[in-house]
Amino acid sequence: MKFKKVDLSFQSCGSEFDESEVIIFSCPLDTTTSFRPGTRFAGNQIRVDSIGIEWYSPHRQANLKSFKTCDIGDLDLPVGDVEKSINLIYETTKEILNEDKKTIMIGGEHLASYPVIKAHFEKYPNLKIIHLDAHTDLREEFLGMKFSHATFMRHVHKLVGDNKIYQFGIRSGDEAEFKWVDEGHVIQQKFEIDTLKQVCDIIKEEPVYITIDLDVLDPGVFPGTGTPEPGGISYKELLWAFDQFETLNNIVGLDIVELSPMLDPSGASTAVAVKTLREGVLLLHKNRLKR
Ligand code: MN
Ligand code: MN
Repeated sequence: MKFKKVDLSFQSCGSEFDESEVIIFSCPLDTTTSFRPGTRFAGNQIRVDSIGIEWYSPHRQANLKSFKTCDIGDLDLPVGDVEKSINLIYETTKEILNEDKKTIMIGGEHLASYPVIKAHFEKYPNLKIIHLDAHTDLREEFLGMKFSHATFMRHVHKLVGDNKIYQFGIRSGDEAEFKWVDEGHVIQQKFEIDTLKQVCDIIKEEPVYITIDLDVLDPGVFPGTGTPEPGGISYKELLWAFDQFETLNNIVGLDIVELSPMLDPSGASTAVAVKTLREGVLLLHKNRLKR
């Protein structure tokens, strides 16, 4: 067995790798964060605080105990070396996908999603991406860096091409990014997420990857993040988004990024991430049963 379950797993996700259908791993990538760092601590804080949640979700009407999930823990990334880190995340994702399992990645900064999505795209060439975020993440480069959490989705676009990326809740970005969006490269809903319902209907049968930058939530709900943006969605709206995700027939992977637990000493932001992750694990298992 190549991957081992971590000693302290996310709540009820302590099955062995081989017997599990969904694999959780976390990427403590925290190098290009442009403002306040700390996402490298998210994975393990989420694991510790998951002790406090119920196994059962009344929203998904499903129980973590009913499914086999393996949490393989934090990847051992070389701190400060972006290129090597991206490569390691990519290789790990590929190996998990080769075993025909679904992945849930916990960030880390949002750049960690790039190698994960790349590996999924290589397996599913018709991949569609649902991206919830306060930020466009569509810069060509940022502070002279090609790979940054402010550029990663632009580089995903270079892989997947026009009209494959659906963004929701966006309320911050450079003028040039919004102009580029208006040229018709990605489909973007600014400020709100309500068109998600129609989008899920359109891409219902396609392979879909979901990436959730938790700063899509309002800072009143989720202050524990590096670049908070006022005017975000509520937690109930995020749960509504999961209801829409349930209508999809082929979700291939999911990630939750940009929690910086130390920025919210109350622990409330980590609780939001923990509950979102529970919904995510159950979503993927339920989705797998559809096929
Ligand atoms: Mn982002
Ligand atoms: Mn963001």
